[in-house]
Amino acid sequence: MHRKVLVSAFLLAALTLPALGRHQGMYYATRSGKTYHKRDCKVIAGKTVYEVSWSDITKHKMTPCKKCKP
Ligand SMILES: [Zn+2]
Repeated sequence: MHRKVLVSAFLLAALTLPALGRHQGMYYATRSGKTYHKRDCKVIAGKTVYEVSWSDITKHKMTPCKKCKP
């Protein structure tokens, strides 16, 4: 009985975590940019980018890229 509960909890976590990751995942910005991008955005392709978290984005009032719409 206990084992069954544990397995369900694990499955629920496995299903929930990717969804959370999508929402709070890392975004990418160029050094000079005030916009943030998805990792696969064409605008930042081939450029030096750094990771920005959601808290960085709100702290620096960065705007979402119009191309990749992060
Ligand atoms: Zn972009």
